[in-house]
Amino acid sequence: MTFLGGGGDGQNGSTTRAHFVLVPMMGQGHTIPMTDMARLLAEHGAQVSFITTPVNAARLAGFATDVEAAGLAIRLVELRFPTAEFGLPDGCENLDMIQSRGLLSNFLEACAALQEPLMAHLREKQVSPPSCIISSQMHWWTGGIARELTIPRLAFGGYCGFSSLVRYILYRDNLLENVADENALITIPGFPTPLELTKAKCPGSISIPCMEKIPEKIFEEELACDGQVINSFEELETLYIESFKKVTRKKVWTIGPMCLCHRNINTMSTRGNKASVDDAQCLQWLDSMKPGSVIFVSFGSLATTTPQQLVELGLGLEASKKPFIWVIKAGVKSPEVEDWLANGFEERVKDRGMIIRGWAPQVMILWHQAIGGFMTHCGWNSTIEGICAGVPMITWPHFAEQFLNEKLVVDVLKTGLEVGVKGVTQWRNEQQEVMVTRDVVEKAVYNLMDKGEAAEELRMRAKVYAIKARKAFNEEGSSYNNIRLLIQEMGNKTNACGDTDGSKLSLFV
Ligand code: UDP
Repeated sequence: MTFLGGGGDGQNGSTTRAHFVLVPMMGQGHTIPMTDMARLLAEHGAQVSFITTPVNAARLAGFATDVEAAGLAIRLVELRFPTAEFGLPDGCENLDMIQSRGLLSNFLEACAALQEPLMAHLREKQVSPPSCIISSQMHWWTGGIARELTIPRLAFGGYCGFSSLVRYILYRDNLLENVADENALITIPGFPTPLELTKAKCPGSISIPCMEKIPEKIFEEELACDGQVINSFEELETLYIESFKKVTRKKVWTIGPMCLCHRNINTMSTRGNKASVDDAQCLQWLDSMKPGSVIFVSFGSLATTTPQQLVELGLGLEASKKPFIWVIKAGVKSPEVEDWLANGFEERVKDRGMIIRGWAPQVMILWHQAIGGFMTHCGWNSTIEGICAGVPMITWPHFAEQFLNEKLVVDVLKTGLEVGVKGVTQWRNEQQEVMVTRDVVEKAVYNLMDKGEAAEELRMRAKVYAIKARKAFNEEGSSYNNIRLLIQEMGNKTNACGDTDGSKLSLFV
């Protein structure tokens, strides 16, 4: 266990500071927003224990240093991850390290085996007993710990309200069961606005070997949990968030966009993995570009892109003649792509293209004034980071709930254009055909970055949502108030149990 800091002045006067136990799924799309959540809770006066494993703790070193320097009451708790016991390669402690789909169930079972050590840790005499667990939905096994400790468990899916609602209805009504045809259209009953999508594009449609029982457990525990925390804000998707509350009959706290907790470049660039590019060099390049002229292309931490598709994408970017930053994940680098990049492509685009091989400081880049568009795979974190940047998007969903996020952006918010993918790009399936050709990429970039009326309207709307996001997040905004209410409610529950007092708390800080 690493003690990181101890600031924060509490917020309830004489009452106990709430102590949140955060248990993120070990995947960057879950861990990153939960580090932001930890910061926010601590900045608002709560204490946080952040549960992780050794390999992931090493990746969190930048976060640990930042929050320690800021004096925030956050501690990292490292639990050994039982890789060998579950047939996983040594050190395989993150979703982005799983090399084949068949190993996902082993990984999730290894996660569930953390139940006992986490329980033992939380039972140890804590300087301040936990008030509440907030855990990734996939960590269904944390429900049992919360019941045992008689504290609430709140689930964090990492989705927006729109996608959370669709996902909930799909499971509740078993809508995908007995639908064999991947192209069959599924209508979502009771959804506030008409919505139809093919089975393949629905979350949960991918069949993963040996995973039959796990989704059931996840949903059962979701039904049993005490509420949900959502990284979105009321003003963005009021209708869907309200409907989600009604349908689930649970408390729902929208406390986002949590990425807005980053107010300086240092913490933005230590978010997630160590960046593969020098910040200063990257900023210098961006500074040399005209405001709003650059398109940023990145597909998150998990989506895989085949070499053929990468080449098509690159040729489309080249043909668009627009400046770009293109992130190529370390895992998808192949000799074929490297050769192609080195043999002409990089030279041809050197005046207007930056290629980042590996991990990009995404938020730092997105929020630079030179960025005028974002080509995204529509993971929810990337989507909301794009919303905060006030830039329109080209949507290129791959799998899971990304197709729903695309619908929100394109049909509801009207701040993006679909690139028009032909189908689902399965996670860790390297045998995919090309989904989007170079001409389609070129046209989409041209249409988005164009100076015409349609693109101008997208840009205007995107800017309005970025302003709304800040209003919600800043003092007295809806998300700001929700965080305070969340901390207050969980703190009160701790008090009601009567097992903490101020003197013990001072030991924590
Ligand atoms: N990210 C980043 N640099 C990269 C790739 C991803 O900072 O090179 C961050 C991105 O800003 C986001 C997260 O990783 O916060 C990815 O989450 P998202 O939900 O967008 O997609 P996922 O990776 O879960 O598919």
